[in-house]
Amino acid sequence: MPDLNLYDPFEKMQFTDTNCFLCGTNITSEHRAPVFGEWLQRKYNLQNKELLLLDKSVTTFSQLTIPCCDHCHTHYLLPLEAEVEQAAAAGLAGIQAFDRQKLFQWIGKMYYGTLVTELIKEANPLVMPEYAVSEDPKMLGKFRSFFQVLQSLRVPMVFSDFLPCSFFILEVNPQQDELPFEYQDELTTMVFSIKLGSVVIACTLLDNGIIERALGKLTQITKGQQLHPIQVAEFKARVFYAAYIFNVVPEYFIRPVKPEDDHLVLDTLIDDVTNEIFNPWDMTAYAHMLEEMLKPWSIRETEILKVPKQPLSFLLTEDNTFKQVEKV
Ligand SMILES: [Zn+2]
Repeated sequence: MPDLNLYDPFEKMQFTDTNCFLCGTNITSEHRAPVFGEWLQRKYNLQNKELLLLDKSVTTFSQLTIPCCDHCHTHYLLPLEAEVEQAAAAGLAGIQAFDRQKLFQWIGKMYYGTLVTELIKEANPLVMPEYAVSEDPKMLGKFRSFFQVLQSLRVPMVFSDFLPCSFFILEVNPQQDELPFEYQDELTTMVFSIKLGSVVIACTLLDNGIIERALGKLTQITKGQQLHPIQVAEFKARVFYAAYIFNVVPEYFIRPVKPEDDHLVLDTLIDDVTNEIFNPWDMTAYAHMLEEMLKPWSIRETEILKVPKQPLSFLLTEDNTFKQVEKV
């Protein structure tokens, strides 16, 4: 019988180098797992590539590891990495056909890995972060909900009629693209994007698919198109901005477990009575986000908002049809 007990590191804020991130088991500090799978590091030559953490410290992809017991590493993380590696080898079609719950776990593990790194640092009394996520009760509530569903990595779990996240899977036109790998994440708004060759996956991690539905029209319009990198950047700006104004936290409930059960069943609830699902759209804030994403093309906010009610778009024409972009 599988172990159906969930681990809750948030109860005692058990973020240390000597507790497995996934099951909580006591371990020594040499038991660690990479946040970014080894195949990913090999394939995209990331080992010595630097990345910036929230506290502005610099690490490398190969140094970014999380405490993980041998059992979780070999039974849950490595098999998942192997499956994603295989799917990714088949390009866009492979990713599109890949099991969504597993894709959620894979992206969730990388997101949570960077979060855990942050929380372990904040637990160090000598570190005085400017903004400590561990001191924000609302954020902690979100992370806690998220970790509950992420544990489907270890504990067999069926989500009754939902997926905890939204996915946007895009294809970049290989003729216009020179970037083999890229990743971006926002710890507080819980959004993550990763580029594997010509495939870009953007994921908002804890919205029960609401953002995917909200941006459904955009997905429809761009479906089957190979996008110019600047169009991908705009698409990401829209997803990241939607995550930024997303205003509710799904709650998850475990159905009572019977002795013969071999998995958990989770139900979910979103309280949209006391809270609006989205905060109001603010054009300036969106333009800001877009400017940030369009940095490689040096397009400034003033240009984005030249027509104040119709912000600059590389994806859509004025009549909301797909815009062809050959050259920028
Ligand atoms: Zn473990």
